[in-house]
Amino acid sequence: MRKTYKAKCFKCGWIGDWSDLNKDYCDGGYRGEPHETCPNCGDDDIGEVIECRSCGGCFEDVYGSNGLEICEDCLNKLINTRTVAEYGELNPEEVEISGLWAKVYTPDEINRILMADFMKLPDSKQYEYCKMYVDDDPHEFADWVQTEE
Ligand SMILES: [Zn+2]
Ligand SMILES: [Zn+2]
Repeated sequence: MRKTYKAKCFKCGWIGDWSDLNKDYCDGGYRGEPHETCPNCGDDDIGEVIECRSCGGCFEDVYGSNGLEICEDCLNKLINTRTVAEYGELNPEEVEISGLWAKVYTPDEINRILMADFMKLPDSKQYEYCKMYVDDDPHEFADWVQTEE
């Protein structure tokens, strides 16, 4: 999925296409590059924002080149225990557990037991842990969860 980049004026908050900016080749331009200013207020404090592909709002690319194509709010709405647990099962990690449990239970059973235990936590705690896990690579999670839908 391609990101949609928009221009934002940080002075007045105007957001639009880069082609909508006023271009002045006389005033303050650099080596043939136009001086780009906001069509609303005329300021040149212009930066790049990304249009959220879910809600259409725009946000700054805080994650750098690995940036999300959906905004933080929309990402947070996708985080719930079932979804994140499923995502986690697709990305298994090795841990050292007691040889007894490894002998007695299959990995699926261990996951089920831990899930049941996790579900006993308050919702806010579950959310906090899920968010902490997703934040390792929010881009990867967002891509996965949106292809699942
Ligand atoms: Zn402006
Ligand atoms: Zn959004």
